[in-house]
Amino acid sequence: MLKTINLHKKYNDFTALHSLNLEVKKGEIFALLGQNGAGKSTTINILLGLIKATSGDAFINDISVKEQPQKIKKHLAYIPETVLLYPHLTGIENLDFFSKIAGFNYQKEELSALLQRTGLQEAAHQKALGGYSKGMRQKVGIAIALAKDAKVLLLDEPTSGLDPIATAEFTEIVRQLGKEGRTVLMATHDIFNAASVATNIGIMKQGELVQNLPSKAFTAQELQELYLKTI
Ligand code: ATP
Repeated sequence: MLKTINLHKKYNDFTALHSLNLEVKKGEIFALLGQNGAGKSTTINILLGLIKATSGDAFINDISVKEQPQKIKKHLAYIPETVLLYPHLTGIENLDFFSKIAGFNYQKEELSALLQRTGLQEAAHQKALGGYSKGMRQKVGIAIALAKDAKVLLLDEPTSGLDPIATAEFTEIVRQLGKEGRTVLMATHDIFNAASVATNIGIMKQGELVQNLPSKAFTAQELQELYLKTI
C-alpha cells in the first residue's frame, strides 16, 4: 500500500535520506522511530508531495508520488503533531469545510457520526475549535481523514504533548483504523505507544532504516533497549 524505493534526499550537501526502502502493507501500523534529525519528517513530507526526493520514488497504492502527486493526495491523510483547523468554526463546521474541499458533501448527521466514530463527545461538536484540547483537535483531524475515506494515514508525532488518557484514546482510534484495513505510517518518539499500537517498527538513524521488525516480537521494555542499542 505504501512503499519507498531507494528514496534519497539531499539538502544542498547534506544527505537527509540514504536510499530508504520502506514498505507498509494494507492494515499495518508502522511506527517510525529515530532521534531528532533521523529523517522521519523528510520521509513523510516526500510522501505528501511537500518536498521532492533527490532520487528514488515513493508509491501509494502503486501510484508514483513523483509522477502523479495530485492523484496521491486523494488516498492520503496527514495528521501533524498539532492539527491546524479554523478556531472560530465548530468541530462539525471544520469537518464540513475540509470534507467539501476534498469533494465530499455530507449531511449534518453524517458529519456528526464521523466525529462520533473518533470518540469526540457530542457536546463538543457544536463548540468552537479554539476551545478544544490537542487530543480533541486530533480527533477532528481523524474525522477529516475518515470523511475523505483516506486509505493511508501519515501521522507525525501524534501523541506528543497528549495526556495519558488522550494518548490511550488516540491509540485505540489508530488500532481501529488498522482493523478497518487502513494503512498507517506514524513517526514518533513514543516507544511505549509504538510498542502498544504498531504492527511493525522501524528505527531510522542518519537517514537510513537500520531496524525493521514486527512489533509482536517485543515488549515495550525490549523495544526501548533495542532502540538505545541501535541509536
Ligand atoms: P524530528 O524527530 O526532530 O522531527 P526527523 O527525524 O523528523 O526529526 P527531519 O526533520 O526529517 O528529521 O530532518 C532530517 C535532517 O535533515 C536533519 O538533520 C535536518 O536538520 C535536515 N533538514 C530538514 N529539512 C531541511 C531543510 N529544509 N534544509 C536543510 N536541512 C534540512
